[in-house]
Formats: sequence, structure tokens, C-alpha cells
Amino acid sequence: MSDRPIAPGRDRICIHTATNRPLPLEIAVEEYVRVGVSGITVWRDALTGREPGRAGDLIRAAGLEVVSLCRGGFFVSPTEEGRAAAVEENRTVVREAAALGAPLVVLVCGADPGVPLPLARDQIRDGIERVLPLAEELGVALAIEPLHPMYADTRSAVTDLATANSLAEQIASPWVGVAVDVYHLWFDPNLEREIARAGRARGGAEPPAAIRGAAGSIFAFHVCDWRSPTRDLLTDRGLMGEGCIDIPRIRGWVESAGFSGFVEAEIFSTEYWAMDQRTYIERIVDAYEAHV
Ligand code: ZN
Repeated sequence: MSDRPIAPGRDRICIHTATNRPLPLEIAVEEYVRVGVSGITVWRDALTGREPGRAGDLIRAAGLEVVSLCRGGFFVSPTEEGRAAAVEENRTVVREAAALGAPLVVLVCGADPGVPLPLARDQIRDGIERVLPLAEELGVALAIEPLHPMYADTRSAVTDLATANSLAEQIASPWVGVAVDVYHLWFDPNLEREIARAGRARGGAEPPAAIRGAAGSIFAFHVCDWRSPTRDLLTDRGLMGEGCIDIPRIRGWVESAGFSGFVEAEIFSTEYWAMDQRTYIERIVDAYEAHV
């Protein structure tokens, strides 16, 4: 392992509700506060049956900051109707984020086995550009999250940070940036260079002030670990320190690029969803101390 930067303080720890999927939002908020976590990224399923504005009030009243809403995207479709429906759905997500008080929507951009990847990327750019006027009007930023290439068939045609950076540069809005997730990017030999590029992006325009600690177009930083062997391609992410990702090294690159925002634990894990969530949340916080 590399020389490790000082662990992020509790004021920079954020947990995604999907990490503790069995907990209702209200209980997750209570538990995060109990262990001293400062931020929460809300997944849309956690809002089911709740009014986003009231959920945001509850979160802030508890003393947590809403870091982002996950997730929008899925812009790719072989049909014009499908693409139009995706744009409408993303406008709904942006309105929910505004009501919730989330400054950012994270985009899993989409892919379709029937759409060639270059065309899919054009559709993604077009979809983001169609959602952007509403996002700007409501003050909600959009982060393109590149996904591991194993998801290039159905989840995202954006499979590396270079492609995400290029898209953000082409769209050229201060409201569009990228999310760096170690799970999806850890193996990329160009990662350090592309993180630096993201940090300098947009020709000097400042990122939206509401995204705490953003640098250039780096709007979010997600952590977990890559288990070896991985038993499931979607729901077997490891707790930080359990796998082969050098998280401190990547965090060092992100921070060298100027990012000082939340370090967000996003861990989809059938194994961890089955355990006692109070104990698990304590383990997550310990893992920040030791392995982030
Ligand atoms: Zn992520």
C-alpha cells in the first residue's frame, strides 16, 4: 500500500442509503448521526412513499447534509420514444433532488445491447443536454459516473473516466461534472492522469458552490472495495479494506486534484444487507479510519 493520507474526518464521511438498504430512511438517518457520520446520499428507493421535501427536512433537522440523489441516467434506447421517456424520467429525478435539497444527481448513463457504444455515448450526451436546462434552473448539478466495463451492455456506455471527462468537456456546463468511484475505475492505468484532468476541467469556471469540496468537474468520490474473488457482479462489493483497491492512493489523487468533499461509502452487498445494520454501520466507520 502507498503512503496513506490522514483518514478523512467524520465531517467528510457520507453513506449511501443503498449501503444499508434494509433500513428505512428515518432509521438510517438516526444511525448515521449516532456514529458521527455527516453526509447522506439518498437513493430514490429510500424515498418510496415519502415526500422528498419532508425527507430533506428530516435529514437536515437530524444534522446531516444531503450530498446527492442517486440516481438518474439510463438515457440510451433504440427508440426515440424510449429516449424521450428517459429524459422525462430524469427531469422528475432533478425535481426530486431540488425538493430534497440535494445539490447533485449522480448519473448511471445507460446502455442497451442493441445500441452500438459510440451511438450510445451520443445518446447520453443528447439526453444530458436535454435535462440540463431544468437542472440549471433548479440549481441541481449532474455527475457522470463511469461504470466498470462489465456493465457496458445494459448499464453504462461510459466505462472510463477519460470518456466521462470528454463528455463533460463537450457539454461544457458548470453544472455537469463527474463522479469518481473506486470500484469502477481502480484498474485504469490512466486514472491518475484523468483525475487530474477532471480537477482542472471547464476552463476556470467554478463548480456549483452547493457541492461541498468540488474541484473542477470532480463532483463526487465513492468508495468500497473489490472482493477477490467477486461472487456477484452487482451485489458483492466489499467493505473498504476487504479487497484489492488501493483506496488511499486514489483518494490522494482526488485530493491532489483539489477535491475536499465527502468520501461516500456505496456498498451493494447481499452479505452485508443480511447482517445487523447497526453493527455494520459501526464497521463502516471503522473502515474509514483504517482503510480509506
Ligand atoms: Zn458510485
